[in-house]
Amino acid sequence: MENKIIKINKKYSYRNLKNDLEYLKYEYLDNLVIGDIGESILGEKIKFLKIGKGDKKIFINASHHANEWMTSLIIMIFVEKYLNLIKNNQNYKGFNIEELFNKVSFYVVPMVNPDGVDFCVGERRISELEKYKELLEPYVNSLDSWKANIRGVDLNLNYPAGWEQAKINKAKIGVIKPNYRDYVGPNYLSEKETIAMYKFSMIHKFDLSISLHSQGQEIYWNYQNIEVPRAKEIGKKFAKASGYLLTEPVFNSSFAGYKDWFIKEFQKPAYTIEIGKGEEGKSLKLENAIKVYQEVEEIFFIAMEEI
Ligand SMILES: [Zn+2]
Repeated sequence: MENKIIKINKKYSYRNLKNDLEYLKYEYLDNLVIGDIGESILGEKIKFLKIGKGDKKIFINASHHANEWMTSLIIMIFVEKYLNLIKNNQNYKGFNIEELFNKVSFYVVPMVNPDGVDFCVGERRISELEKYKELLEPYVNSLDSWKANIRGVDLNLNYPAGWEQAKINKAKIGVIKPNYRDYVGPNYLSEKETIAMYKFSMIHKFDLSISLHSQGQEIYWNYQNIEVPRAKEIGKKFAKASGYLLTEPVFNSSFAGYKDWFIKEFQKPAYTIEIGKGEEGKSLKLENAIKVYQEVEEIFFIAMEEI
């Protein structure tokens, strides 16, 4: 690992992300576009970056769920690696980097849920969050379980794809109001973060999307019975490269996630990739970051090659 900018030395907060983007901009200005897709509930800019100049558009997003901040770190490690290969005009593991750069516009939203992540990693104290104190206070000693945004909506249950069904399913397990996880929101697209993702996606109409989550070493690729050309074939290549399990379709199992909505709206390949292996409902451990990165690295190159 020869990364100079993205360091694996602390839980990856929104502040870390912002700093890293500044350094990347300075180092790789010619090949990198940075902007924002909207704002979080607490007014933080939801950042995006773009690498490449091709007509094919790939979209990677990470940290819909607060305690899955490792997904942001992993994609940022990849971003630096890719930029470095481009700058040095090097090929890598059989991938022709210049060809990928010219063929694909690679878009990344590395942290969909900056407020949630910062609460989860201890970057924002409860004293700054008076308005949400009642909701958040019970979790100050178990921050690592927090998945929702800052006002208790699970952002990956807030998209318009079977949202009513998700609402029913979650009510069955007793979640009907703001919570650390599993609350679908008062209606779909009720949150600033999901609205930003929706608008950004509608503008760009990506050819393929990958949503990074943790954990389980699994790849989800379908929504209901919608047939998406090449989706399974590409999923198999991801599975082979990572050693992750490409899950077989389970009808009526998943609703209102970004991947679900993307497939429904665009009929293009979309994946949820559950990175790493750790404790259910908790963050992955920082010391496993390099191992997890190595598991998934090739997936991003394969996506560019295959699309
Ligand atoms: Zn998740």
